[in-house]
Amino acid sequence: MAVPDEARRRWQELRELLEEHNYYYYVLDTPRVDDATYDAWMRELLQLEERYPELITPDSPSQRVGGEPLAVFDSVPHRVPLLSLANAFELNELVDFDRRVRQAVGAPVEYVVELKIDGLSVALAYENGLFVRGATRGDGFTGEEVTNNLRTVVTVPLRLKRNVPAMEVRGEAYMPWKAFERLNREREDRGEPLFANPRNAAAGSLRQLDPRVTASRSLSVFVYDILYLEGGAGPDTHAGVLDYLEELGFPVNPHRRVCHTVDEVYALAREWAERRHDLPYEIDGLVIKVNRREWQRDLGNTAKSPRWAVAYKFPAEQARTQVKDIIVRVGRTGVLTPTAVLAPVRLAGSTVGRATLHNEDYIRDKDIRLGDTVLIQKAGDVIPEVVSVLAGERTGREVPFIMPEKCPECGAEVVRLEGEAASRCTGGLGCPAQVREGIIHFASRAAMDIEGLGPAVVGQLLAAGFIQDAGDLYYLKYENLVRLERFAHQSATNLLDAISASKSRPLERLLFALGIRLVGSRAASLVARYFGTLERIMQAGEDDLRAIPEIGPKIAASTIAFFAEEVNRRVIAKLVRAGVNTRAEVTAEPAGPSPLAGKTFVLTGTLAGMTRRQAQELIESLGGKVAGSVSHKTDYVVAGEDPGSKYDKARSLGITILNAEDFLCLLAAGVRS
Ligand code: NAD
Repeated sequence: MAVPDEARRRWQELRELLEEHNYYYYVLDTPRVDDATYDAWMRELLQLEERYPELITPDSPSQRVGGEPLAVFDSVPHRVPLLSLANAFELNELVDFDRRVRQAVGAPVEYVVELKIDGLSVALAYENGLFVRGATRGDGFTGEEVTNNLRTVVTVPLRLKRNVPAMEVRGEAYMPWKAFERLNREREDRGEPLFANPRNAAAGSLRQLDPRVTASRSLSVFVYDILYLEGGAGPDTHAGVLDYLEELGFPVNPHRRVCHTVDEVYALAREWAERRHDLPYEIDGLVIKVNRREWQRDLGNTAKSPRWAVAYKFPAEQARTQVKDIIVRVGRTGVLTPTAVLAPVRLAGSTVGRATLHNEDYIRDKDIRLGDTVLIQKAGDVIPEVVSVLAGERTGREVPFIMPEKCPECGAEVVRLEGEAASRCTGGLGCPAQVREGIIHFASRAAMDIEGLGPAVVGQLLAAGFIQDAGDLYYLKYENLVRLERFAHQSATNLLDAISASKSRPLERLLFALGIRLVGSRAASLVARYFGTLERIMQAGEDDLRAIPEIGPKIAASTIAFFAEEVNRRVIAKLVRAGVNTRAEVTAEPAGPSPLAGKTFVLTGTLAGMTRRQAQELIESLGGKVAGSVSHKTDYVVAGEDPGSKYDKARSLGITILNAEDFLCLLAAGVRS
């Protein structure tokens, strides 16, 4: 059947979407959409390919498992491919699966039902009973060698209870809820991006270059299959395999059951959908496997998944609750963010009491009112959001939200600039919330990187009157600090050391830390390099600033306005007096290998999973240079999403253009050389 243009266009679109999101999910461990959205795209793609089989190509996302292995690790070819699983979302899909299996084997079939642990697949190899090699799934055929990292996972047996000559098993590495929550709390304190879910946290933790980092992340593992066993096939049934693995000392999940009918399977699925949050780790469904291994072999695999197993996925979780209040929080730049205070409700394993409402327009579009009953869900993010209002439940007493005209923290006027969704407090540094958030930003990882100075400590220091702005941090006294609650000799000394260490941060960090509106780390770095000293930046006029490629009129105006403010100049004077570095680094020869020495890069577009600053630092750490504009001297243009005119210029000059993946490969090759 000829494929209609419309179908082909949609298929192409889905393919691109899936490929892009596979990359975020598998390679960078930072999904940008929730799994339910991804799964819906995949289903649509599968339906199109089923209808028009000529669309199927070997590189279609429907035919491929996982993501490319990251080049910074050695790659390990898998002895047996580590496949994915076909999904079932509804009862009828389970019934179809059961019918296909029974037809193929021509007899009633028993299934083993296991929990589907939401982690990442690993292969563990043993020789003479000793753990010798561990790998991630990668693209199913080739994984990343992460043996040393897996050795730090306490539940991975380093020696088996029996001396098996050679075997390889498959399991799921995961991060228990407690460890996940602790890790995200720590990241929040350090101003680092949070992991969206335990699966991504586990993947990010296992794929670390330094095994000590993995060791600190409290990962665990459940083993569920034998991939290879020297000199024998092993037990006849899958249930037998699980028992055997347990006897060898592997951690095998205790919640497993043999079911005789699909109804029994479904009843179990319903039961676990209710009970899943009683478990100390995340599960996203159940896995149903044909018990007799001979039949497993008979049924075989498709390119992507075995025909003898299916994953039943739980529906995306939503909860109903009531909007008790809508409060407004003021951020560093004065933006007012409305937040719904909810009647506490259990959702996806935790009690939820807040949901973000983003801005005034969002509330108006969804027509969210105080007192409304709403449906909430956790999206790709850990912050819950309102899916919809149950308007039928209204009593008439609900109150529409009105953005306050005065800042709730300082009483200054609130304005909404034309073309912006955000409302802003105009109180500037007279607003305590902006001051607090500004100091938190100043100390954050990407700025002055003051370890131990998170939101809680900043709040304490302000409340005690020890600081009024970021400049005061450098005049803190040990005698005062030790008197604070939760502080003692060691913590006070550590904090003072960390503050003192931050004095030598590069000028670009300081400039970013000051929190000038629109001046992100990229602009800060350009400006710092161009002018060389803080003094010269402070004296720069609009034309001077605009001479820098990429610095437009808005950034220039905002920079000038910032330095014109008396309060800001006072803070800067304190920093200078304390000896904080205000000069751009005289670039010394970078330590270590310089595989990119002599190479000039230009960055354009958004790079997946990496800020421009990080990309620039990586290039520079390997000896390369980053320039603001493309010329004949440019060696590479790294083009992320939505590249700008530099991309076209690079093409016209015939300069090598790297996409995000090529770039990572180049860096990885540099690191290893
Ligand atoms: P999957 O997670 O749907 O199922 C297969 C995996 O389940 C196996 O690889 C194994 O690692 C795991 N598993 C856990 N317990 C198991 C057990 N007891 N027995 C067997 N396997 C068990 O498949 P996948 O290929 O790992 O990932 C695809 C899914 O990942 C998609 O369906 C989607 O939900 C998610 N995804 C999301 C995005 C996104 O952007 N949000 C992108 C890509 C993939």
